[in-house]
Amino acid sequence: MLTRLFRVSDKGDFSAEDLRCIQEAADVIRDGGLVGFPTETVYGLGGNALDASASKKIYAAKGRPSDNPLIVHVSCMEEILPITADIPETGKKLAERFWPGPMTLIFRKSDAVPRETTGGLDTVAVRMPSDPVAAELIRRAGVPIAAPSANTSGRPSPTRAEHVWQDLHGKIEVILDGGPVKVGVESTIVDVTGKTPTLLRPGAITMEMLEDAVGHVEIDPAILGPVSPDVHPKAPGMKYRHYAPKADLTIVEGDMDRVVGEINRLAEEKLAAGKKVGIICTEETKNRYPEGMLESIGTRSRQETIAHNLFAVLRDFDDRGAEYIFSEGFAEDHLGQAIMNRMKKAAGYHILHV
Ligand code: AMP
Ligand code: MG
Repeated sequence: MLTRLFRVSDKGDFSAEDLRCIQEAADVIRDGGLVGFPTETVYGLGGNALDASASKKIYAAKGRPSDNPLIVHVSCMEEILPITADIPETGKKLAERFWPGPMTLIFRKSDAVPRETTGGLDTVAVRMPSDPVAAELIRRAGVPIAAPSANTSGRPSPTRAEHVWQDLHGKIEVILDGGPVKVGVESTIVDVTGKTPTLLRPGAITMEMLEDAVGHVEIDPAILGPVSPDVHPKAPGMKYRHYAPKADLTIVEGDMDRVVGEINRLAEEKLAAGKKVGIICTEETKNRYPEGMLESIGTRSRQETIAHNLFAVLRDFDDRGAEYIFSEGFAEDHLGQAIMNRMKKAAGYHILHV
């Protein structure tokens, strides 16, 4: 299959040509095909959420296990009613506060949503993205769009159209290039089907923000650590290895001086053994490591920058052939919860405390 790549404005000030490209992508979705498109979190791989065969194509293109459900994207509240069985009060409050935006809510599904889209579940994950290209695409498609991240399953999520091209060209009809995404980590997922809202995946809408909106929020235990194969977590995606670079990633946490010392020691050890080594550091520490495969992920004083750069840095080390990556750990409050959740998964929970 020939994949067409269209560059469109990321500001929402669409030219007639931009609108023609977005319309063509919307037609592909209406016809049962697949489109890579920007959202504010990461790039999505979209298909008609109400069409079982489109969902099957999404799983095939990503190489994703079909029990790992897809998030259904809508452009306004009216589009939610036909796909959900009911919208609980907490769901309404959260939607009002944070939509459009980087938050996904789990509702009981209606019969309109095929089980192929929900990985066999009775519930449906719904999100209203704020990205102008995503919103325009959904509106023009006239159907809700099922979209997981537009990467090969298991690889770091795509934060630029080039990443989508690397993983999916030849497998999907169109990629809309709306430039680098804003947030850089996937949406916060909150299950609102139970008595107490439960966080299933941390993201840019932080625990602190959720609790400010609806009071106490529970945290699914799968967020905090590795899940054993015999457990069936609520968010099925939680059991799969995720976000992983090809290299063996180790996170080193603790007192900063000791962290820098330990990463230098580990890197030297691997370099002496003839291995290709990458180091993930920050603006604060970049002068304390040897030059070479060293990438600063941003400054500790701006968690937004670290989230924004995280997946691109991991992909970059893949491109450069790193075999071992050592990374400093980060604080886990606010957006740091999402950052460290992704990093720990990418590291297969290989974390050293020094
Ligand atoms: P991705 O599309 O890669 O951002 O991942 C989507 C994730 O959303 C899945 O891996 C699940 O963890 C979660 N998800 C989607 N639908 C549901 C659902 N009905 N119930 C619980 N979690 C869901
Ligand atoms: Mg994903």
